This record gives sequence, structure tokens and C-alpha cells, in this order.
Amino acid sequence: MAVSVPKVGAKVRVTTMYPNTYAYRGKNDNYVTYTREGEVIQSIFRDPFMFAVKTGAPDHPVSEFNAKSHHIVKIEVLMGESRSVATDTKAWKVKSEDGKRVYLVQRVNGKFSCTCKGFEFRKDCKHIGAVSKR
Ligand SMILES: [Zn+2]
Repeated sequence: MAVSVPKVGAKVRVTTMYPNTYAYRGKNDNYVTYTREGEVIQSIFRDPFMFAVKTGAPDHPVSEFNAKSHHIVKIEVLMGESRSVATDTKAWKVKSEDGKRVYLVQRVNGKFSCTCKGFEFRKDCKHIGAVSKR
């Protein structure tokens, strides 16, 4: 399975069930939906499913969305492209032994990767070992 996430620079219209964290229901017991429109910019979150939209709204000029969230009703790409992100994706931050560095270990569709030098050369490392034992 994969989820479509709009790329930075794309123009999108996102419809969500909730304005924030609260759920509202309308007269017919349907959820009231909210629409945000604008240009996709880099998300502040290190999550492949997250994308930020510069809406220019006075209350929330930038909205962050998680493409995988059940709060999202639809994502319409008006201009630009999307990227496909595998849904079986997990990420961990692992500290180096001296505690001075943090590496990002990712598992995409069962395949591990790490941002350390050891993984770059050997395609395996102790950070992956530490995560897969958890
Ligand atoms: Zn590593």
C-alpha cells in the first residue's frame, strides 16, 4: 500500500473532517468538513506523510497535514505533483554510542536503512540492530 503526498511547490486543496482536534457534526449527523487551499511548503515534521500548506489564513497561515490521517477527507492537487509513500514506513531516532549524534533509522516495506556511515558502506549497522530487537 502507498499514500499520495503532495510535493513541495504543488498547489493543493485539502478537505478535513476537523478544523483542529475537535469533531463537529452537522444537522444530519454528518461531519462538517473544512477546506484549506494553498502552496505546499516543507513540513517541520520529519515524517514522510507530513506536508505543510501555506494558506495565508490570518488565524493559521500554515497548516500541517498528515496524508495518512483518517481526518483527511480528500487531497486535491490543483497544480504540481505528488510523491508516493509506502504505508509500511516506520522511523526511529537512534543515538550514537558517545551520545553526540542522532541517526535516523527507517523501515520501508520491511527494508531497513540508516543515515550513519556504517550503513553507507556495509548496508547494515548496529543502529538497525538496536531497533529491530525492540
Ligand atoms: Zn546506523
